[in-house]
Amino acid sequence: MNNSTTPSMKVVNAPDLRLRIKTKSVKKINQGLIQTLKDMVKLTKTFKDPEGVGLASTQVGLRESFFVAKFATKKGRKFASIINPKILSTSKKTKKYFEGCLSIPNIWGEVKRATQIKVSYQNSDGRQVTETLKGVQAWIFQHEVDHLNGILFSDRCLEQKGKFYRFTGKDEIGTETFQEITI
Ligand SMILES: [Zn+2]
Repeated sequence: MNNSTTPSMKVVNAPDLRLRIKTKSVKKINQGLIQTLKDMVKLTKTFKDPEGVGLASTQVGLRESFFVAKFATKKGRKFASIINPKILSTSKKTKKYFEGCLSIPNIWGEVKRATQIKVSYQNSDGRQVTETLKGVQAWIFQHEVDHLNGILFSDRCLEQKGKFYRFTGKDEIGTETFQEITI
């Protein structure tokens, strides 16, 4: 049995054009895909500061529609595999999030997103799930679905005329510091 991660898997950084691909649906959930999803979780967990909470297929150079994301469950926060996601409806109510991305290191931006969304997807068992997500989970889901359509949070920030910030390190008491920038 092979338990190693895909040695070549690494996160693609902007402006790499692979981040601009519009993904195609997964036709069949096979062992290869399940291994890829496991490898993506492992890779996401290596990002600790800031913590990686989601990773989309396009961010590791793949072209099918799936992502992994850390979601709250009854047993605590756990990574979920989300295959062929669709956003069925979004709340009118929005909230401004301070958003970052593993593919755009050290840059943060303000992005307004719906606070509640109804979604459908398949999990790694192939089961079709329909559910309503709120708050941080809704935010992560929207960010990752954008990735699967070749859209980055920086595009949303620009179209909404939001502010961008660069992470400038930590001050003497360990508080993260940011500087506003223009892109
Ligand atoms: Zn991202």
